[in-house]
Amino acid sequence: MTRQLRILMIGAHPDDCDILSGGTALRYARAGHAVKFLALCNGCGGHQSMAPEDLARRRHLETQAVARLAGIEYEVWDVPDCELMATLENRRRLVRDIRAFCPDVVFTSRPNDYHADHRNAAILMQDAGYLLIVPNFCPEAPALRRMPVVLFFYDRFQNPPFRPDLMVPIDDLIEDKYALLHCHTSQMYEWLPFTRGSLDQVPSGDAARREWLHGPRLPRDGTVPDASLLGQATASPVSEIREAAPAIKYRDFLIERFGEAGRHVLFAEAFAVSEYGTPLTPDLARELFPFLE
Ligand SMILES: [Zn+2]
Repeated sequence: MTRQLRILMIGAHPDDCDILSGGTALRYARAGHAVKFLALCNGCGGHQSMAPEDLARRRHLETQAVARLAGIEYEVWDVPDCELMATLENRRRLVRDIRAFCPDVVFTSRPNDYHADHRNAAILMQDAGYLLIVPNFCPEAPALRRMPVVLFFYDRFQNPPFRPDLMVPIDDLIEDKYALLHCHTSQMYEWLPFTRGSLDQVPSGDAARREWLHGPRLPRDGTVPDASLLGQATASPVSEIREAAPAIKYRDFLIERFGEAGRHVLFAEAFAVSEYGTPLTPDLARELFPFLE
């Protein structure tokens, strides 16, 4: 390792980063880089029966289990779910938080999204971006000397469509990514199945649940899944079909970037570069994503 990179992943809720970039986070953490997940909402909205305060406490514990397992830091703000706003107060708070961590790369949502919290998280990051280097804004927190590279998580929205600039194959980390997702019991086995109408299909017992979460496993015999898989409904909220979607959709990108190996990638996380961060030149990409070389 030439130097320790500082990687900040910002999601609206305490499971967004895990779902959208958990494999990439593990890739960095295992190589000794510093990774932090920041959830801007406390998760108090994501349950069909738990009281908000109890749920927020429970979800915080879930994030800390992820942090221990992944070897990362996981911070959760105290903003209630469904109430995140792109206010000046939150802009200042985010600028102070980002400056304190001093990231080389920030990952976050695009502003096009179905959930107001995701949109507002994206807008807050967009608003905070340039201000990171402006010393007269929040002078109590020393300004950064260089803007980080800002990357957007993959999403399925079409207006405008997501276009990947970077893909991280995670076939070797997929079991470990599922282990992170498994920590979010309240979401993976309670709330999200409830919203999908599959709550009655969630098994009991740790091992059975872990297996169900993959829902079902894709063949590991070298068969590459095609687009016919993408429309299939699954009981698990984070099925392997969903995990495989970026690699299926952007196969040409994978082949162009990784050659013949790109044809056989089953799982990859995709990211797009924000125009408002430091431009990701080829040299900088080699420095910030050393595991892609
Ligand atoms: Zn979310």
